[in-house]
Amino acid sequence: MMHRNRPIGELFAQGRPIISVEFFPPKDEKGGEQIIQAAEEIREHLHPDFVSITYGAGGTTRERTFRYARILKDEYGFEVMPHLTCVGSNRRELKEIINGYRKAGFCNIMALRGDPPGGESTFTPHPDGLPYAVDLVNLIRDNFSGFSVGVAGYPEVHPESISSELDLRYLKEKVDAGASFITTQLFYDNKSFLNFVDRCRQAGIHVPIIPGLMPLRSAKQAYRFCQNIPKELEEALSAAADDKEAIKQIGIDWTYQQIAELFDQGIKGVHLYIMNRSGAALEVIKRLRKSGRV
Ligand SMILES: Cc1cc2nc3c(=O)[nH]c(=O)nc-3n(C[C@H](O)[C@H](O)[C@H](O)COP(=O)(O)OP(=O)(O)OC[C@H]3O[C@@H](n4cnc5c(N)ncnc54)[C@H](O)[C@@H]3O)c2cc1C
Repeated sequence: MMHRNRPIGELFAQGRPIISVEFFPPKDEKGGEQIIQAAEEIREHLHPDFVSITYGAGGTTRERTFRYARILKDEYGFEVMPHLTCVGSNRRELKEIINGYRKAGFCNIMALRGDPPGGESTFTPHPDGLPYAVDLVNLIRDNFSGFSVGVAGYPEVHPESISSELDLRYLKEKVDAGASFITTQLFYDNKSFLNFVDRCRQAGIHVPIIPGLMPLRSAKQAYRFCQNIPKELEEALSAAADDKEAIKQIGIDWTYQQIAELFDQGIKGVHLYIMNRSGAALEVIKRLRKSGRV
């Protein structure tokens, strides 16, 4: 049965923390079983306000993102926000993809530029495509009505950006173009997020800003996206060495503490990067419930 989604932008008016989780489209059968198992457990025990599903590097997962977005929406009843990037598609193709989502009952899209393909350091847009995420936000706004659009923000500044001021100016352009909320890149130091929120507000960005957090499963994972790893976390990871179970526990404890502190500071939501595994996220939410924060 086709489940019609609600615009995510509207959820934030409820004044309680909005919890979301991120899936990625699997590559093979084993990965397919993993996402389905995670989706079942998340539906049963976590009850997220919405879920998102990523769009693979190089535009390679157009069909798979669509297929799994539909499964998550129609078979599991989630509010779903599919991601879309400018990589590898011209304007006509981007419109076709968005139109496909529209026809299938979606009304949320995470609009991204995407990363340069592996091995390349600079992003080269498709000859008839779009160079920046703001152009995708504009394309959605100008050609489709009723979509709630999310965009990405970077508390530790986007790696290609030459300054935090410019990065913020471009983020504001995405919001002014019509984005109704921002989800951030992951971080392990709450100070960088809280400082980012302050700078956004001062710059006139007033939409909800959802912190993106990942319960880490390896030290390598932490360093892949963040330069700023707090000393306490670094020490705990180094003491755990190769003990996978200990690292998983550190990941759960750290994410719980991050969310508890952010909620206590008045932040009204969290987006969990779960890598198609439910265990750590369920444990974190269980603790948040126990402490009365959700
Ligand atoms: C929450 C989240 C979800 C993500 N999901 C995916 C996904 O599903 N698939 C995927 O491939 N990647 C994903 N990414 C990664 C993302 O695609 C990369 O970080 C990419 O390098 C930048 O995308 P963006 O949308 O932030 O780009 P943009 O907002 O376009 O910014 C890219 C860079 O260009 C600069 N810039 C922006 N506008 C202008 C302008 N007008 N003039 C000059 N410079 C400008 C910015 O400062 C920044 O340095 C995600 C990231 C986040 C935080």
